[in-house]
Amino acid sequence: MRVNENILISSLTTMRLGGPARYVLEVEQPSDVSDAYGFAEQFGLPTFALGYGANTIGHDEGFNGAIIINRMHGIAEEPTENGVKLKIMGGEYWDDVVEYACNKGLTGIEALSKIPGLAGAAPVQNIGAYGQEIADTLTEIEVYDSVAHTFKTLGKADLNFSYRKSILNTTQKNRYFVISITLELHPGEMTRPFYNSLENYLSNHNITDYSPKSIRAAVSAIRAEKLPDPLTTPSAGSFFKNVYISDSDLEKYLEKNYPVHRGKDGNKINSGWLIEQCGLAGKTFHGIKVSDKAALVLINESAKSYNDLAAARAEIVGKVYDKFGFWLEQEPVEIQ
Ligand SMILES: Cc1cc2nc3c(=O)[nH]c(=O)nc-3n(C[C@H](O)[C@H](O)[C@H](O)COP(=O)(O)OP(=O)(O)OC[C@H]3O[C@@H](n4cnc5c(N)ncnc54)[C@H](O)[C@@H]3O)c2cc1C
Repeated sequence: MRVNENILISSLTTMRLGGPARYVLEVEQPSDVSDAYGFAEQFGLPTFALGYGANTIGHDEGFNGAIIINRMHGIAEEPTENGVKLKIMGGEYWDDVVEYACNKGLTGIEALSKIPGLAGAAPVQNIGAYGQEIADTLTEIEVYDSVAHTFKTLGKADLNFSYRKSILNTTQKNRYFVISITLELHPGEMTRPFYNSLENYLSNHNITDYSPKSIRAAVSAIRAEKLPDPLTTPSAGSFFKNVYISDSDLEKYLEKNYPVHRGKDGNKINSGWLIEQCGLAGKTFHGIKVSDKAALVLINESAKSYNDLAAARAEIVGKVYDKFGFWLEQEPVEIQ
């Protein structure tokens, strides 16, 4: 285990905000994980599991505790009746995993190309994009249970996945440290109908090859066009969750011509559309810019303080509520 002291959270998170963390513990093998939690307990410090920091916001006062980062690497393959199981250590960069699978012609995660982050964080908010989510292919995860002080395997059913949710960010938040994830993929390709923007891209470019590599290339191109690269442009990706409406309200919103997407996970209104309709795309509040390419994304142009972000968030949420009556919910978590 590598022990680091007084590391700025702004240097560990893609929104680039946040003061010093007292300790940052980098775990390189499973036994380091129990050591890391033991270390924090010895000093009576709270812990926070961190990956790449692409969905996490730091506070100005920092974190008087221990941030624990998974640095375990490796992908192990096991053949199954219909395909292959990939056991992926949580420190692998997620997009490297997608590339690995696509290069082998395996389908199941190609639409999740270019989502920044580590594999260990992927099940936490059930990452999703362009009609796929990790819940579709994940079979189990290995975790350290910081309450029971034991290593455990949790199956997909234990994780209770839904849109941007699992037990890891709801009922059991901060309890389990993800060591590895196992996905079951199979040779083949995604089938139509594709997600709207993917469908449009494929038809506009006359692409009829739907192999994992080809879909990965299309998704990567769409994302490069509208989403900021966290290496050059600070953001936490989508800052707000989409709004879901009940079946009983569906008619009401369709009559008003709201763009409701009816997917397997429910009736969704893109919160980016709500923000655009309020005329906020491209506008900057307190150093935080509402992206003009994807209004759901807030870019940290010049904010140095969490308070700037909080003030910008309050203005945007307030304007959307005043116009539409929906309270937007923040997607990224905060270290506190
Ligand atoms: C430009 C951009 C685009 C994005 N696009 C998408 C998208 O299309 N779809 C999508 O779903 N998300 C998207 N995101 C959000 C983000 O990429 C995902 O949430 C990703 O899974 C975060 O991974 P991370 O390693 O950075 O997690 P972090 O931000 O480090 O952590 C996120 C959460 O996971 C927990 N966590 C991290 N590692 C572990 C672990 N080993 N064990 C237990 N808990 C852990 C943290 O405590 C925290 O609650 C985007 C973000 C950016 C910046």
